[in-house]
Amino acid sequence: MEMVSRVCPICGSNDQSRVFAEERFDADQWDQFAFASRKLPEYMHYRMIVCPNCDLLYANPVPPLGVLVGGYQSAGYDSGPEAEHAARTYGRLLRPILGRLPDRAGALDIGAGDGAFLKQLITCGFTDVVGVEPSEAPIAAADESVRPLIRRGVFRAEDFAKESFRLITCFQTIEHLYDPLQVCREAHGLLKPDGALLLVFHNRRALSARILGLRSPIFDIEHLQLFSRRSARNLLQTAGCQDVQIRTVRNRYPLGYWIKLFPLPGVAKRAAMTVAERTRIGRVPVALPAGNLAAVAFKRT
Ligand SMILES: [Zn+2]
Repeated sequence: MEMVSRVCPICGSNDQSRVFAEERFDADQWDQFAFASRKLPEYMHYRMIVCPNCDLLYANPVPPLGVLVGGYQSAGYDSGPEAEHAARTYGRLLRPILGRLPDRAGALDIGAGDGAFLKQLITCGFTDVVGVEPSEAPIAAADESVRPLIRRGVFRAEDFAKESFRLITCFQTIEHLYDPLQVCREAHGLLKPDGALLLVFHNRRALSARILGLRSPIFDIEHLQLFSRRSARNLLQTAGCQDVQIRTVRNRYPLGYWIKLFPLPGVAKRAAMTVAERTRIGRVPVALPAGNLAAVAFKRT
């Protein structure tokens, strides 16, 4: 597979002098790589560069866009209950934003998965709710109440009317995008004045990421870039957004899912997962700061 080289996808810097990690994957085995949203960590990643200008950690080189899109279209899906828990976590992030919006007319979720968050939006009183999702499997698994609201494909601004959304959300997706700045610029263009863009993403400077280093599940071939508070602020401001606020997310998941994520040795992990699956303990919801950040930004005119 011919890899594609890139500059910093936020600021365009071509300073490649700060290599965070060398490549650790075999492009010839691409077909075996999973693009599922939830999976056991594989400890594979691209060559990762730190941008000295904007603090972004980004992959370079990366596979061609068409190969990545193909991977997502056919990705497996087994994350129904976890997606539901994540959607509730994101619903809690929405509450402080609601009072700052003039109305709740029009909401778009980019990377909508099985549409679990679309249900949250509707519950919060949003009208004209729509999701975009490139993978077929989560849409097929979507609740019938929201499946017709999910458009299959990659996000394209031209599919929507300018200034037609009061809120645009993008959860755990910005790391996967070939051109995150372009997507944020386009999202800004689709927002009505005083509308908000809400992102949730991994914090590469979180305590867990610093302790685990390259064993952290954030280092993964699905992630083309990883953000910090500073690089996320740079991304949103460069995209034209204002009033950027960034806060830590406490994710609420069943204990069994935390075990699946945690970097235990294989045997210990299988044993712990078996116990969690066979008992009620695995289903107990636990809220932890899992190294995620939420960023909200507004369109001001
Ligand atoms: Zn940069």
